[in-house]
Amino acid sequence: MERHGNHIGGRSVEAATDAVLESRNPARLDEVLGVFPRSGAAEVDAAVAAARAALASWRATPWPARGEIILRAGLLLEERKEEMARLMTREMGKVLVEARGDVQEGVDMAKYIAGEARRPFGQTVPSELRDKWAMTMRQPLGTVAIITPWNFPVAIPTWKLFPALLAGNTVVFKPAEDTPLCALRLVEILEEAGLPAGVVNIVFGLGPEAGEALVRHSGIAAVSFTGSVPTGRHIAGLCGGMLKRCSLELGGKNAIVVMADADVELAVDGALWGAFGTSGQRCTASSRLIVHRPRLADFTDALVDRAARLRLGDGLVEGVDVGPVINARQLERIHAYTEVGLGEGARLLLGGEVARDGELARGCFYRPTIFAEVRPQMRIAQEEIFGPTTAVIPVDSLDEALEVANGTGYGLSLSLYTADLRTGFRAINELEAGIVYVNAPTIGAEIQLPFGGIKNTGNGHREAGTVALDQFSEWKSIYVDYSGRLQRAQIDV
Ligand code: NAP
Repeated sequence: MERHGNHIGGRSVEAATDAVLESRNPARLDEVLGVFPRSGAAEVDAAVAAARAALASWRATPWPARGEIILRAGLLLEERKEEMARLMTREMGKVLVEARGDVQEGVDMAKYIAGEARRPFGQTVPSELRDKWAMTMRQPLGTVAIITPWNFPVAIPTWKLFPALLAGNTVVFKPAEDTPLCALRLVEILEEAGLPAGVVNIVFGLGPEAGEALVRHSGIAAVSFTGSVPTGRHIAGLCGGMLKRCSLELGGKNAIVVMADADVELAVDGALWGAFGTSGQRCTASSRLIVHRPRLADFTDALVDRAARLRLGDGLVEGVDVGPVINARQLERIHAYTEVGLGEGARLLLGGEVARDGELARGCFYRPTIFAEVRPQMRIAQEEIFGPTTAVIPVDSLDEALEVANGTGYGLSLSLYTADLRTGFRAINELEAGIVYVNAPTIGAEIQLPFGGIKNTGNGHREAGTVALDQFSEWKSIYVDYSGRLQRAQIDV
């Protein structure tokens, strides 16, 4: 088992502290993948200093040259997709087929954003005065902090790192404590692709220690954060006090609506994938299933029947459908929500327990869990569980379905199944979320469209798509007066 330092200035740097964190395989907790420093303010200082030292040269590197490096990193990632996916399955548990998808999202982001390198368009607009030129251009922010969760250990860092780098920023990256090795491998690939030392630095450690020191650091121009609402709120408060730019991608309480005219088999396929994919540990997980009463029995029976047949196990094993959850703390939290649901009077149709048979006892496994007769205001229908638990909520009309779907504090991803075009377009117009799907589950975003949510899911920013660079760049407005005399705007017109 290897002991790693922080990654600062292109090399592994021993931390001043002896305190360490272990990365463990959640499918077999006795397997340690590596040991990493539990960094504090001193290590963060060193990483910020390295990133700031690398800034002048990186921001002077032409956009297309920066894009070439990102593209090469994407191609290397593609070449090593299998190796990275296997590492990811061991480090955070998602089944191999999903881990491949996670890496693929990083490859897609590299190719997409590298294409933007030759078109970071500004505007040229007419001046109100003669012999005066007016235009805009994007500029980097400086050194930015990137703080990420563990559930997409490659995809989420690439959604942030690649646009931040393309825009000419240097980075200090604090990955989740549960997935440090994936983060290290990703940054090593960037450097192998030609990224100069110091442009991206990693500090390993805990959120409230290394993460918070990074957010508070005066050398950090902006913070890009993905994680839970409480942490996001806290970081936003710190950044607010410092007038520091901060973009937040937070939790969700996403729903699939199934109307009476829907293809129920298709909706069940979607619900299984949406609710139990990544063991429900997706910000877009389908944790509410809002079903029009005429199809309630058909839908619920088929869902329970199929979910009962999902195979739980180590995600590296062929035929396993659902992997472990990330750690013992999360396992407890998920089970606590089962108790909450039972206490609220919801009917448990499947699961509701930690799986401990055979090999499963070595890891953190929770059985796919389905509650029925859930009322919209119950806590299990309002709060993010972040595990393989979903709640079936019956409704009597489209109006009620839309109201229930919109009736949480979150607004990330909502979906509706119907065969009626008019119903589909009402959903598109009226569902209150950053992402809406028709006849597909709440998961499955593609990187060429903006990703993010409304309400408590974020603070108005989006990742990916054509707006990916907005988080990481400032607009500069430029006026060139070649008249040779003082011309006064608004006065000499
Ligand atoms: P989390 O506890 O908020 O942690 C996210 C990251 O923030 C981790 O790196 C964490 O470090 C760090 N952190 C914790 N406290 C901090 C502090 N005081 N200052 C600075 N950094 C701090 O979230 P999580 O449990 O890892 O991830 C699950 C959450 O992420 C869910 O709510 C999910 O919905 C959300 N998510 C949202 C999106 C989206 O795009 N909207 C995508 C994926 C996940 P540690 O690892 O040490 O805790």
